[in-house]
Amino acid sequence: LKGKRRYHFFDAELERSLKTQHEKLSELGKALENNQLFLRYQPKVNLREGDIIGLEALIRWQHPQKGELSPAEFIPLIENHSLIIDVGNWVIDKALSELVRWQEQGLNTTVSVNLAPHHLLQPDFIHKLRIQLARYPQINAEQLELEILETSAFEDFDAVSEVICQCRALGVAFAIDDFGTGYASLTYLKQLPAQTLKIDRSFIRDMLVDPDDLAILEGVISLANTFNREVLAEGVETKEQAQMLIWLGCELGQGFGISKPLMGEEVVEWSASWQPDPSWSEAPKLDDK
Ligand code: C2E
Ligand code: MG
Ligand code: MG
Ligand code: MG
Repeated sequence: LKGKRRYHFFDAELERSLKTQHEKLSELGKALENNQLFLRYQPKVNLREGDIIGLEALIRWQHPQKGELSPAEFIPLIENHSLIIDVGNWVIDKALSELVRWQEQGLNTTVSVNLAPHHLLQPDFIHKLRIQLARYPQINAEQLELEILETSAFEDFDAVSEVICQCRALGVAFAIDDFGTGYASLTYLKQLPAQTLKIDRSFIRDMLVDPDDLAILEGVISLANTFNREVLAEGVETKEQAQMLIWLGCELGQGFGISKPLMGEEVVEWSASWQPDPSWSEAPKLDDK
């Protein structure tokens, strides 16, 4: 009898959590319909030369009660659900239309979109992407970059590689996000058709205090050179980090030290006024260790 009661208790508990899950999903579905989702754009730059390489679209939810929610607060919930496909397609569309607007104002650049593997691995993904691109004849496929997390890229390596190859055939660029946090073997890396490795923020954050992280960073940069890949540092916040990155030969960067994610309307003005701090190109002052 006791066991049975307990069973009932857990049943009710499970039912409650499924219900909240269901409620959250439907809330998010409505958010998409009601224009509560929006994008911020974080610039990617050449730290030494000052060129603006592109802008990464980062999703936000303007929740009527809770205010601006970050993707960590709602993307994991839908990552393996069909809603992630609707959200992803909305992001691609929105980012491309913003790119057109920037272009009309004289800023020729690129835009990057983060995609979930569940979306990327849909059988009609390439077909839909082609249609989406065709809606923006002012934009070349080369101006769109897709980002996928290292952790997911290598989980389903063959299928993901295939999609990346098909995207590359269209001209669309590919980057591996948060590189260094997964388990990419060198063999896989060699075969992966993505052009850019985005080095995870954690290595940039600690490279000046943790010699191991500095060594990993150096390793990734030299690996990228060997395999002819671009390398971009995420989370560049300080002058010292920028100096060290340039010194190590990683000239592409992104981070609060360059710009916080901007509203689409702010991008053109930002790009006209931004320039790298000349001191970033000075040799880093190395502590004796
Ligand atoms: P991510 O693609 O690696 O994006 C970088 C994240 O680091 C962003 O957080 C950005 O605001 C933050 N960041 C950038 N520079 C700095 C810095 O200097 N210091 C610190 N502390 N943080 C910095 P955000 O916007 O909260 O996005 C978190 C993650 O959510 C993204 O990581 C990406 O994986 C995911 N995400 C964002 N937008 C989308 C989307 O549209 N679809 C999907 N599937 N995932 C998305
Ligand atoms: Mg990203
Ligand atoms: Mg990242
Ligand atoms: Mg990340």
